[in-house]
Amino acid sequence: MGEPSMSEEKKITLSVIKADIGSLAGHHIAHPDTLAAASEVLAEAKKKGVIIDFYVTHVGDDIQLIMTHRKGVDSPEIHGLAWEAFKKAADVAKELGLYAAGQDLLSEAFSGNVRGLGPGVAEMEFVERPSEPVIIFMADKTEPGAFNLPLYRIFADPFNTAGLVIDPRMHSGFTFEIYDVMEGKAVKLNAPEELYDILALIGTPSRYVIKRVFRREDNLIAAVVSTERLNLIAGKYVGKDDPVMIVRAQHGLPAVGEVLEPFSFPHLVAGWMRGSHHGPLMPVPQRYAKCTRFDGPPRVIALGFQIKNGRLVGPADLFDDPAFDETRRLAQQIADYMRRHGPFMPHRLGPEEMEYTTLPQVLEKLKNRFYKAEEYKVKIRHSEMLTGEVHD
Ligand SMILES: [Mg+2]
Repeated sequence: MGEPSMSEEKKITLSVIKADIGSLAGHHIAHPDTLAAASEVLAEAKKKGVIIDFYVTHVGDDIQLIMTHRKGVDSPEIHGLAWEAFKKAADVAKELGLYAAGQDLLSEAFSGNVRGLGPGVAEMEFVERPSEPVIIFMADKTEPGAFNLPLYRIFADPFNTAGLVIDPRMHSGFTFEIYDVMEGKAVKLNAPEELYDILALIGTPSRYVIKRVFRREDNLIAAVVSTERLNLIAGKYVGKDDPVMIVRAQHGLPAVGEVLEPFSFPHLVAGWMRGSHHGPLMPVPQRYAKCTRFDGPPRVIALGFQIKNGRLVGPADLFDDPAFDETRRLAQQIADYMRRHGPFMPHRLGPEEMEYTTLPQVLEKLKNRFYKAEEYKVKIRHSEMLTGEVHD
């Protein structure tokens, strides 16, 4: 390998790795001692020059490790560091008897990458611009597909993002990389000419999740989302896959205000109580990133940083603004309305999503109680997913 080029040298990696390793008072908030334990590990790594900078925070019961370094995405060293930090935090959680201590650490052994082991990962490598504003969104009590709608509006909807029309660098649009999290496949689709194809997929956020967004003009990475789905990894319900997302802003990308704007609509997302209900996504300042009512409603926070030579300058708590008060009020009205459905869909998730919860265990007990309904003949017979086989 020859000398690294100038741009190679300047490349920075921003890694956001999160996990729920146990929390205080049920699924409420991360305990400060667990944050301190994780911070200690990262502080040591910073001293040794493994990472350039870090910021440890939490949204509800999830610990977030925000790190900058020059080792690229999927670096075994950085993932190993995050794993060690979570392990140390989980040890403290166990000591304190916190709820679901060690919940998201599905494996005992680390094998080079935290993907598939439980933690959620959003990472991007890029050449730092002279001024590099990034927004890190962190949500609790929901799933990665919750960011589909806002990402579409940020990067494909000119009624949200004025820059798509008036900024020449954004005018040729963005490429959406979409994961099929059920099949482990991916597809890249271009906005604006393939908008309807994009929507045909991402309108099913439990299955099709926007992973990355690129500016088409130069393939610059603009956004990345954690796409881990714990239930699909573990094969059973082990908590929701509370997602994180990194979005770069300004200078030929959507402005910070354009990135925040879609969150003024508290759209319905999957998650909330037992990861089994739909509810509004409420944008809140960090001090309100703790879910109480029916373990919700789902929350999202947005922390803004400037990155300078890898240094994390900030954060700014971006939803700490009365301009989002009406959104929060509407979210509460929606929460009331949805709650009144009790155990009924569409408040409770549909059968294909409930498959990974404890509901099938209950339905299993009813299996032998079913008998053939003589006066009701079906032409196309199939086994109903949750009640088992009722046909002959
Ligand atoms: Mg959580």
